[in-house]
Amino acid sequence: MEVVLAESAGFCKGVEDAIKIALENASLGKTVSTLGPLVHNEEVIAYLGRNKVKFYDNLADIPEGTIIIRTHGVGPAVLSELYKREDLEVIDATCPHVKKVQELVRNYADSGYQVVIYGDIKHPEVKALMEWAGPQTLVISPGEVEHGHLELSEKAVLISQTTQQENSYASLAKILEAEYPHLVVHSTICKAAAKRQLAASKLANTVDLMLVVGDKKSSNTHKLTQVCREITQTYQVAGAHDIAREWLVGAKTVGVTAGASTPHWKIKEVMVMMENGSFEEKAAEEFSPSQEEHNQEEVSQEELGQEEIKEYMPGDVVTGKVVLVDEEQVLVDIGAKSEAVLPRKEVYLEGDNTLDEIFSRGDSVDVLVLKANDQEDRTVVSQKRLERERRWKELEDALEDTSNLSGNVKEVVPAGIIIDLKSGIEGFMPGSLVDLRYIPDFQEFLGQEFSFKVVELNRERDKVILSRKQALEEEQEQHKQETINNLTEGQIISGVIKRLTDFGAFVDVGGIDGLVHISEVSWQRVGHPREILKVGEEVQVKVLEIIPERERISLSIRQAQPDPWSQIEERLQVGAVVEGKVTRIVNFGAFVEIIPGVEGLVHISQMADFHVKHPSEVLQEGEEVEVKILDINKEGKRISLSIKEARPAPKDYSASAQQKDQETQNVTLGDIFGDLFPNNVKNELQDAEDEEDDNGKNE
Ligand code: SF4
Repeated sequence: MEVVLAESAGFCKGVEDAIKIALENASLGKTVSTLGPLVHNEEVIAYLGRNKVKFYDNLADIPEGTIIIRTHGVGPAVLSELYKREDLEVIDATCPHVKKVQELVRNYADSGYQVVIYGDIKHPEVKALMEWAGPQTLVISPGEVEHGHLELSEKAVLISQTTQQENSYASLAKILEAEYPHLVVHSTICKAAAKRQLAASKLANTVDLMLVVGDKKSSNTHKLTQVCREITQTYQVAGAHDIAREWLVGAKTVGVTAGASTPHWKIKEVMVMMENGSFEEKAAEEFSPSQEEHNQEEVSQEELGQEEIKEYMPGDVVTGKVVLVDEEQVLVDIGAKSEAVLPRKEVYLEGDNTLDEIFSRGDSVDVLVLKANDQEDRTVVSQKRLERERRWKELEDALEDTSNLSGNVKEVVPAGIIIDLKSGIEGFMPGSLVDLRYIPDFQEFLGQEFSFKVVELNRERDKVILSRKQALEEEQEQHKQETINNLTEGQIISGVIKRLTDFGAFVDVGGIDGLVHISEVSWQRVGHPREILKVGEEVQVKVLEIIPERERISLSIRQAQPDPWSQIEERLQVGAVVEGKVTRIVNFGAFVEIIPGVEGLVHISQMADFHVKHPSEVLQEGEEVEVKILDINKEGKRISLSIKEARPAPKDYSASAQQKDQETQNVTLGDIFGDLFPNNVKNELQDAEDEEDDNGKNE
């Protein structure tokens, strides 16, 4: 037996949207009510009830909370009553198409037209339309016009209930237009309903038997049944259980369609039962033994996507679509004979989470098959076990390839911290592997997301050891390499002083420390870097040299600052007397800093007016002195200074003293010792002195 589904069947958009709105509001914890059943289908109503969407027949019974106006809409009087209730939040889920018709009739009524409605006077949509159309409204039920004459006013308009049969409405319009030429006719049958009717009649023309799936109270399902019945043998069923074997005798092809209020899972139930259930076999055995076996399992149905019915084995992993969520289970369409059951206990639920907080109808979900076709012909699946399996695989991969994973700190324990790895798995991070530095208390990390490496795994014992420290070290190393790769010699960058030593300062320039040698700390003479630098201080440094393979970077703070020699001419003049500080004493003189970073030499001969054997006799390091600038050599960076010329000449060192010196210089040995020697010796001495004088002059 071949089973074919109509191209268009089941839930229309209007119904689907209204159900979604109701379920979404109920999931927010609101008390959700509807005035009358949201849709004419008992199973859907029961499902809504389980999800805390209740319907009431009377306005007065509706409890405070949220009221959803169903797709059929309501009249202006009911609407105004609802809006008057301060304890109600009104959500209007009237189908947009129905709303348009309501506006249409109200406009005609306001313009003085008599509105004639073709439809079922007891149907809620028609009842509401009557209210919008006013007191002159006339309702014509299908077939009624043939039984008598109508009294129409001068201005009249004809519309139809949205789910009426297109052909019947067209026939009625033709009859009335002939009798009342002034009658305005509007085509108000919904396209979704019309599409289902067209698809049903097309299919009915090609099959031996039609099954129309839908609730007996559903108007549009009833119309579909009428459409099909005019063409072929047709039965309306609420579900698979309504199908009688006798109907199938002699039927080689069976068509299936469904009303706009029929859920897809109900259509599928009928399809599956017809194709794979006992009907085919029994019908073949009992009523038509010669009937050819059909292995064809494809159904031509838009909603089912022409999927093949699949069979699964325990352990199979499959992706399905959520078709129903209630408190205890989720039904998942996995393309099998029937929806797979995902029990609540097979879902990893955190805290007080409920199934409907995690799943929504239409969600795609991966599950692991636990039981395939159990005694009740169900497939039972688990999401929890699949997630756990996948998480373990991720952990094993991360251990092997040393990649990073992440998770939240769940708990602090004496020896370390517990990380939530999801899917019911926890990892332990010993205290020594939490950070690069010592941390006395891990409480500050509670709830934080950590990135870490897996360092040990034992699946049998559920043991997972993690290290954030290794992840941080790797991160630091990467940062270091990036810094080295991005640095260029001569570049000036900022860094932070990390450590001071006798030979210089270590500066962090981005995950790596570079060395500023003491000679590069400042333009000034520096005895120890601590004299001018502090740990933690931010400084500008010039990159002097990079040796990537040794991870060595030479830096200079001095060269990142202006050279004081560059402005020397503006700041110092030859002949000027300035103050300075003795920075270093050497055998031949002393160095004096006269502006920061600029030193000059006071030669030993320029230290005092008297003979100085060693500079330390008259100066000491650190002493402040006045010096006169004798010479500036900018290119050679040399300045000659004099202390003695910076001082005024002493007052007692006068001309008479000089003369005395001169006289002393002119005294001869003969003058002093002449009386002690005979004349010939005195003459020889005088000759020797004269000769020495002459030699001295010649020299
Ligand atoms: S059948 Fe048409 S008019 Fe009715 S609810 Fe669906 S979409 Fe709206």
